[in-house]
Amino acid sequence: MPISARPDSIGQGRVLRLLRDEGSKSRAELGELGMTRSRLEAELTRLIQVGLVQEGGKAASRGGRRSTLVELSPFLHFGGVDLGASSMRVAVMNAELEVKAQAVEPVDLRRGPELVLGRATELIEKLARDQGAQLAGIGVGVPGPVRFREGMPVSPPIMPGWNEYPVRDTLARRFGCPVLVDNDVNVMAVGEQWGGVAKSVENYLFVKIGTGIGCGILIRGEVYRGIDGCAGDIGHINVDPSGPVCACGNSGCLEAMFGGAALVRDALVAARSGRSEALAQRLTRRQAITAEDVGQCAAEGDPVAVGLIRDGGRRVGLVLAGMVSFINPSMIVIGGGLAGLGHLLLAEIRGVVYRRSLPLATGNLPIVLSELGSSAGVVGAAVMISDHVFSIP
Ligand SMILES: [Zn+2]
Repeated sequence: MPISARPDSIGQGRVLRLLRDEGSKSRAELGELGMTRSRLEAELTRLIQVGLVQEGGKAASRGGRRSTLVELSPFLHFGGVDLGASSMRVAVMNAELEVKAQAVEPVDLRRGPELVLGRATELIEKLARDQGAQLAGIGVGVPGPVRFREGMPVSPPIMPGWNEYPVRDTLARRFGCPVLVDNDVNVMAVGEQWGGVAKSVENYLFVKIGTGIGCGILIRGEVYRGIDGCAGDIGHINVDPSGPVCACGNSGCLEAMFGGAALVRDALVAARSGRSEALAQRLTRRQAITAEDVGQCAAEGDPVAVGLIRDGGRRVGLVLAGMVSFINPSMIVIGGGLAGLGHLLLAEIRGVVYRRSLPLATGNLPIVLSELGSSAGVVGAAVMISDHVFSIP
């Protein structure tokens, strides 16, 4: 039986979120929520009745009678879907958002929403079945602008055929549970704040450098989406008026100059022209070059590979320096596939941002790599949907 109950008071929502974030607690520990004892007892009674919470083991003795712990129902699970430009990750998490099972596979979003969402559905259903999990909600991140209230992508440049497709409603109908859809970078930003390096940071930027480039903006702990859901779409900021044409139709966008797709394109040119011996060797050996190849060649000291990463980092840094002056964040987290390029990329981004932004804004501005790495998306998706499920309908 799926758990479809929701809290019917603000207090119940706070109990649920605290148990999600910090695990099982005694009644005395729940006192930190500041409710009177009788109020807390009433809220717990209702949560236990509807099956969201259960009484568990005993708390460690503090000398007196050992009190009973309360915890979220072990039957409560959430699904997370992180759709990327070239791969999708699907996970099933328990109520404390521990990933219990996940699957990753290549995806071509250009095949359209029916096919891609159909496959995502199969994967979630299989994972949930294997875990014996009933899903109380599913969060989805997609690589393009999203009209959040309607749960649909809007003119996503790299997702032809997805414009205004009802992603949320399609999945909600299929699974019979609440579904929320947001831009993938927003979702990753939420995940990193919940369980990664940005824990306890309220105002920060999460920059995803994958096939494309985007930025999640958290202000006072909330995602800032803009009026139409394209806030943070920094991949399409112009960095070179004479640069190559971008998927969006303009030329010289940041992501047309750097990002997974652009890096591979430039590395291929360097390999074929013989400018880089190291890249040419990899191309001959494997008939293809990936962003990781560029990273490895750079690590082995190939000057062309180093140059490609430095140039890219400089361009990202220039855009971020502008963002820092504009938003004055207290942290910048770099995630996405190309974060795997590691220190070389990070050093270049830091150098440019620190040099180009006002000293007041960067005096205490850590620029760091994502701690959650490739699971930031699914974890963030589960945070987003559990926040929703743990609030009054
Ligand atoms: Zn563009």
